[in-house]
Amino acid sequence: MLLKACKCGVQYVFRLEKRLELAFRKSSFHNMPCEVAACFLILYGSQHGQAQSIAEEICQQAAEHGFTADISCLSNQHKYNVDREIRPVVFVVSTTGDGDPPDTAQKFVRKIKNKSLAHDHFSHLHYALLALGDTNYANFCNGGKTIDRHLQQLGAKHFYATGHADDGTGLEVVVDPWIEGLWDALKKVFSSMSSLTQQDADLSDSTQDSYHKNASGQEKNKSDLEVDLQLLKLSEVDSQKGKTITSDSSNVETLSTALVASLKQSVPPLSESVLNVPALPASYLEVCLEQVSAEWETVPSDKDGYREFSISKAVQLTQDDAVKTAILLELDTSVQNIAYHPGDAFDILCPNRASEVEELLLRLDLQTQKNCAVQVNLLKNSSKKAAKVPLHIPQNGSLQFILTWCLEIRSAPKKAFVRALADFTQNSSEKRRLLELCSKEGSADYNTFVRDTNVCLLDLLRAFPSCLPPLSLLFEHLPKLQPRAYSAASSSLQHPGKVHFVFNVVEFPARPEHPARTGLCTGWLADHVSSILRPLGAVPASSQPKVHVRPRPSSTFHLPADPSIPVVMVGPGTGVAPFIGFLQQREKEREANQEATFGETWLFFGCRHKDKDFLFREQLERFACNGTLSHLIVCFSRDEPDAAGTVNTPTYVQHNLSLHAKNVARILLKDKGCLYVCGDAKNMAKDVNDTLLKIIGNELQIDKLDAMKIVAGLREEKRYLQDIWS
Ligand code: FAD
Repeated sequence: MLLKACKCGVQYVFRLEKRLELAFRKSSFHNMPCEVAACFLILYGSQHGQAQSIAEEICQQAAEHGFTADISCLSNQHKYNVDREIRPVVFVVSTTGDGDPPDTAQKFVRKIKNKSLAHDHFSHLHYALLALGDTNYANFCNGGKTIDRHLQQLGAKHFYATGHADDGTGLEVVVDPWIEGLWDALKKVFSSMSSLTQQDADLSDSTQDSYHKNASGQEKNKSDLEVDLQLLKLSEVDSQKGKTITSDSSNVETLSTALVASLKQSVPPLSESVLNVPALPASYLEVCLEQVSAEWETVPSDKDGYREFSISKAVQLTQDDAVKTAILLELDTSVQNIAYHPGDAFDILCPNRASEVEELLLRLDLQTQKNCAVQVNLLKNSSKKAAKVPLHIPQNGSLQFILTWCLEIRSAPKKAFVRALADFTQNSSEKRRLLELCSKEGSADYNTFVRDTNVCLLDLLRAFPSCLPPLSLLFEHLPKLQPRAYSAASSSLQHPGKVHFVFNVVEFPARPEHPARTGLCTGWLADHVSSILRPLGAVPASSQPKVHVRPRPSSTFHLPADPSIPVVMVGPGTGVAPFIGFLQQREKEREANQEATFGETWLFFGCRHKDKDFLFREQLERFACNGTLSHLIVCFSRDEPDAAGTVNTPTYVQHNLSLHAKNVARILLKDKGCLYVCGDAKNMAKDVNDTLLKIIGNELQIDKLDAMKIVAGLREEKRYLQDIWS
């Protein structure tokens, strides 16, 4: 969309830019000096890269809609100035921790929270905000909501309704339509800006009209459509023959099998639809492999705060016939201390599976070059805005090292990645299917066959054998390999020089889309410690496996400083981990201060079977015996009712909470106690929250809405704390 201002020539451009303080920027089409494109600013606050990649997607799409956009991370405060920004601003903000803004947005949030700012400080600002969150966690989208609230309080105006995208159900469910609606909203806001300018500058009507024209965009869409129709025709020809071309074109499937949708193939109406595919993401990296021996690294350098520790003990806490395997690890921190408090967690670095890295190298025909040094540079002339060489890809690392330690090769490919992969796919049926998966029309298929089944790049490459992407595409689209967090399951008062963790080995059964596999980190850890896993016994320090760890302190999930405050802990399964730390600490404090007053301690624990997966049973019973725990309340979800045939045996922790509703309500509402919940975010934490609402509603005889307000108050006062994960 180009603003034609030829009447007034370059002088007009100057005046216009002055008036709107860069709301419209001189177009990059220098052959037409009078033309300007409407320019807006995108600011993102990202924790793990999701908000950043969505912001980049918006930036990328802007050109197709006739806009230009500047883009910056909220942490780069020298690159933007919202205090004086008159261009529309689009914020994309994720949420982390207990509903906190991402680390990269913290400074910005502090700035806009400043109480000395005037109530109309941002009255010049027109903005739209896309908040990212996960309804499995408390304080959904709170990072974005916090920024939104403060901007509103300071007079900023929405030009488009805030979007709240839920990673629990799929960010794209909200993100895609939100972005789609953004362009009209931007047109309107620019239009209202321009009409102001028009009045002042007495411009001709043609100026206005030009905001609504997008000749180049339309042409592009048309050509995209032609490509799609061509692909559609190909698939029609194949289906007329009663056959569908599968991964290998010589290998045909009958119509009856073709009627079932799968990762590899679609059924009508999708297979017959004209597709709306996202724009091809601009490539921006150039990767060179040098045949010199690479600078060898075994794990990413310690600049991110990781240190290497020996694993001095590994104990399987569950019986062999338990549904899940829980393992306790003990780190030896006696040589290099690592300060922590019960309630803190630790980040563990884990590599990608060697077999998967090998297969990927083989599939990309790069096996013989795995030891080459990798040089990554920005492509000259890339149209990608604010392109950067990803910081997590080291220069001169070997290819194998980068694929092993730096990139999350297991991540489910985003639609933009699928779109880009389609362009490197030779077989037309395969290409069509990839385009379907990233298209608007194929959204449900993408969710079913990619997102919900956690299909990874390798699964796609297996399913689409004619797809051969260059290495640069992987580097552009695969996110950084993230560490996994584990809560400390010990107290240094009880185990000086040691830290304990406990984890379940995550298992994903085989599916048509991928073979059976274990969780990346938990599967690796289980293999890594298999030689020392008890009951085999301890091993000499020299052969202890090692792991890279850094602290991940919690700002709130700790025992109250005043030990007389009563606490209720809810931690089924491995969710009991931090409470083992709490109770070890309490046990020691009680021994050291026998005169002191200690509040009640309740622990609600649950597992499947009393005899198979009752984690830390002996230790918990000891705590209950010596008074460290005043109440140990357990339930077993899969055990038969006892011999007496007791009906209504509590199955889950929330049932036991209901049975003890009076005490729970008293502790929280009268005694100013604390409630801690740890473990599964998807079901347990929600059920416990619902139960809490009922307990409070019944106790105070109030309706759900009022109970929700009380619960929100408890959260605010940090007396209802969650440490949950999915
Ligand atoms: P991943 O490979 O990362 O897979 C994990 C998730 O990805 C699954 O839950 C699933 O949703 C999805 N997924 C991946 N592949 C598939 C597939 N093929 N099919 C279906 N779904 C798939 N965990 C503990 O056990 N103990 C703790 O004490 C603990 N403390 C934590 C503390 C914090 C602060 C946080 C944030 C998390 C904590 N976790 C804990 C969770 C832990 O960090 C890991 O997420 C967990 O161990 C799984 O890691 P993984 O690499 O083995 O699994």
